Amino acid sequence: MKTYNWREAARRANRWTLQLALYGLTPESFAALIEGQGGRCASCAAVLRAIGRVCIDYDRERRLVRGVLCLPCLDGLRGLDWNMARARALADYLEQE
Ligand SMILES: [Zn+2]
Repeated sequence: MKTYNWREAARRANRWTLQLALYGLTPESFAALIEGQGGRCASCAAVLRAIGRVCIDYDRERRLVRGVLCLPCLDGLRGLDWNMARARALADYLEQE
């Protein structure tokens, strides 16, 4: 099985190259970030398959990249407005017997 080349994919996609630059990343550091996550979503550990199916999660307050997420996890964070109390409350709700 051929390994997905994140660096080349980021280089080829202009939109991604521009987005990476906004976050202070290069195609090389972006690829290293995903490889450091074992090629998986930083939250749910789903296998990240292609550049169009991932998103960079950026902490605007601390001005740092938290990680690369799958799109469903990013949608969840958006829905929770990156609010930890709401995320915990939702997890508690789901864990109710
Ligand atoms: Zn995920």
